Amino acid sequence: MKTALKVIGILEKAGYEAYMVGGAVRDYLLGKSPQDIDVTTSASPQEVKSCFSKTIDTGIQHGTVLVLLDGEGIEVTTFRTESGYSDNRRPDAVEFVKSLPEDLKRRDFTINAMAMTKELKVIDFFGGQEDLKRKLIRAVGEPDRRFSEDALRMLRAVRFSSQLNFMIDEKTLASIKRQARLIRSIAVERIKTEIDKIMVNPHTQRSMEYLKTTTLTKHLPAGYLFEVPWEKYIAEGNSVKGWVYMLYHLEKEFADIRAYKFSNDEKRLIEGALRAARADFWDAWTYYVYTEEQLQIASALREMTVNIPLEKRRLPIHSKTDIQATGRDLMDWSASRQGPWLKKWIEKMEKEIVYGRLQNDKEQIKDWFINEYNHDA
Ligand code: ATP
Ligand code: MG
Repeated sequence: MKTALKVIGILEKAGYEAYMVGGAVRDYLLGKSPQDIDVTTSASPQEVKSCFSKTIDTGIQHGTVLVLLDGEGIEVTTFRTESGYSDNRRPDAVEFVKSLPEDLKRRDFTINAMAMTKELKVIDFFGGQEDLKRKLIRAVGEPDRRFSEDALRMLRAVRFSSQLNFMIDEKTLASIKRQARLIRSIAVERIKTEIDKIMVNPHTQRSMEYLKTTTLTKHLPAGYLFEVPWEKYIAEGNSVKGWVYMLYHLEKEFADIRAYKFSNDEKRLIEGALRAARADFWDAWTYYVYTEEQLQIASALREMTVNIPLEKRRLPIHSKTDIQATGRDLMDWSASRQGPWLKKWIEKMEKEIVYGRLQNDKEQIKDWFINEYNHDA
């Protein structure tokens, strides 16, 4: 926050207005350290750039410049409004405006629509501080209008309820119930970002209840999945845990949530964790084939207490490359050419070693192989 205040000071010296704004002010007033700090200013993006030696054009078309100072990055955005919400999504155009009040008016909720001077004086036109005290998420202005401008805000309201342990204001909630179907117009990537945040926040269950009571679940891809009981779910740093939790309890597969466009890493983690969670029993082979991350998620679901790093350390090998013999060796020893048999035998050898029935020693592997292979033939 020190750096952000310094940025504000520099902009003010150059004759512009500048304030800390949005989530950073909210978190500061709640006594939490903000994730990222946003600054809003009367200076145009070009003017902001001329005030600092290091900047990056992260979102210049939206008026945002990332200022790099003292090893930190502060997002500085020119006062703006948004206009032309033609399809319940983000605006068609942004328009720079002259005054802070106009900038604050476009923001989603009263608790996110406050600004703060570098002297830490709070500017609060919409009762944000009062709502923080009452732990309420309330739309700025007319909720019906605000949600039809950008339907993602409905999901953001639901997300902030688990992030902050707040309730949604009655009028705002009623409006979400009325307009839930508008969420269908929102890109799945933006939806997933909010759902992921729900799954890593401490009060996941509250958000999921809201998804159900607002009927948003009826309009989200695979929305019925969110209606699984959440009371046993313990959120951690990784949102994947939440997705696996739903699939596991509802006996569904990754294919059922494919619409959310997971990254390949997420997909691998989900599929592996799900398979490990569903395995009949866990033994050395389980600890060998699944990653530590997959096993952590799966063991939580099975309510198992195991020391996964220890179980992994106990294994004689950790991957095929640790094996003292190669496929080439097997081919030499059997005087056979490559073929489907080889894969089968490598796997057989791998299993014997992982289970500790065969020592990972080239001579012993050779004896074992020649014996078994001839026996098999
Ligand atoms: P956090 O970063 O803790 O998730 P935040 O409040 O900083 O919460 P961001 O998504 O980073 O949320 O957005 C920063 C600010 O921009 C918000 O506080 C809000 O004022 C405004 N904002 C973000 N998204 C919207 C939106 N869809 N409609 C209106 N205002 C928005
Ligand atoms: Mg933020």
